[in-house]
Amino acid sequence: MQQAYDYLIVGAGFAGSVAAERLARVFNKRVLLVDRRTHIGGNAFDFHDAHGVLIHKYGPHIFHTNSDEVFSYLSQFTEWRKYEHRVLASVDGKLVPIPINLTTINQLYDWSLNSEELEQYFQSVAEPVAQVRTSEDVIVGRVGRSLYEKFFRNYTRKQWALDPSELDASVTSRVPVRTDTDDRYFTDRHQAMPLHGYTAMFERMLDHPNIDIELSVDYADVKRRVQYRELIFTGPVDEYFDWQFGKLEYRSLEFRFETHHQTKVLAAAVVNYPNDHEYTRITEYTQLTGQQHTHSTLSYEIPRAEGDPYYPVPREANKAIYEKYRELAESVPDVHFTGRLATYRYYNMDQVVAQSLALCTRLTGVARSTLAAAT
Ligand code: FAD
Ligand code: UDP
Repeated sequence: MQQAYDYLIVGAGFAGSVAAERLARVFNKRVLLVDRRTHIGGNAFDFHDAHGVLIHKYGPHIFHTNSDEVFSYLSQFTEWRKYEHRVLASVDGKLVPIPINLTTINQLYDWSLNSEELEQYFQSVAEPVAQVRTSEDVIVGRVGRSLYEKFFRNYTRKQWALDPSELDASVTSRVPVRTDTDDRYFTDRHQAMPLHGYTAMFERMLDHPNIDIELSVDYADVKRRVQYRELIFTGPVDEYFDWQFGKLEYRSLEFRFETHHQTKVLAAAVVNYPNDHEYTRITEYTQLTGQQHTHSTLSYEIPRAEGDPYYPVPREANKAIYEKYRELAESVPDVHFTGRLATYRYYNMDQVVAQSLALCTRLTGVARSTLAAAT
């Protein structure tokens, strides 16, 4: 006799794993978690490569959040290593801090402005923008066209195969502009890396007798042979509905890894290349993880139209298509959509965790703070 599950959960990334963990551990639900990949963790998956270096298979994942709730929830499954991310950009033959800050401008132009003078400079070069709508507006409206072209225009064209003027303002708004010397990429209250890596954290989350896991299987196959009451789907929402309203655009990346017999190769954990090369950035994983090793592995990110869906593409045409899928999704009983692909949102990891905790609240009626804190 086939075993009946309370929930079939498709996708073992943050979205699916958080839901599986809470429903199984706190609410005693029987859960089957499946993923078409060979591993858990979704895009946050990390592993030790052939040289023993802990690397992120799908590009650099740095954990940061302002949510105490999300941070303490995940702290049940991992210890942390404090880590503040810093990035350099290769511009005009120099390596300067990005987000643009006081040091960036002084190094770039060999100036020695103070914060006030820099603010005046930005105001003198900023182009007036009546209504900030696009990713171009955000930057030229703040720092003018020259800095926009040096740091943003070509990086964005490479990353998205779109001009910033065709992308929603939210994309470049992710990267602030500062007039002080704060050179951190993020300013969130909590910034840390899981001490033993993301995969180890996922293993602890999912280690529960109520959770069965099947890897290398597709939802399309599982649904035919498994009995379940409700479905939580974290894959691409357009795929779930057989692309009936057309394809949603997702941007992909190719990752090229390169190992050096050297302890430190890059001047920072990540170096961005806005203007040169086909890749957008290089990452040195030992600088993210703090791993001490005789070797160091780098990854190069080369944006691609085809391949695994990594980024929803925030622009008008896609919003309109997604809205149709969202309405349809809301009308399907006992099927719940959460995560970056299923809700077509350019979400960071912490936002996905919060979204899945919110879903569990809706499913169980238990207040989110109680639900997140339950051990
Ligand atoms: P995913 O991790 O994509 O998981 C979805 C899973 O569903 C996948 O494993 C997929 O195989 C599976 N799946 C889909 N369809 C099916 C199906 N039909 N059958 C079976 N399985 C299926 N966030 C940060 O907070 N900080 C960062 O520094 C950061 N860096 C990033 C860098 C890159 C290059 C990328 C691409 C993303 C980055 N993110 C970062 C975002 C982060 O990866 C996501 O927020 C998070 O991983 C999303 O989790 P998810 O579970 O929604 O989706
Ligand atoms: N961006 C840019 N130049 C940079 C860094 C970022 O033009 O040096 C733009 C680019 O469009 C990018 C977006 O800002 O896609 C968001 O950057 P972020 O570093 O948050 O991207 P992610 O880590 O999500 O790939």
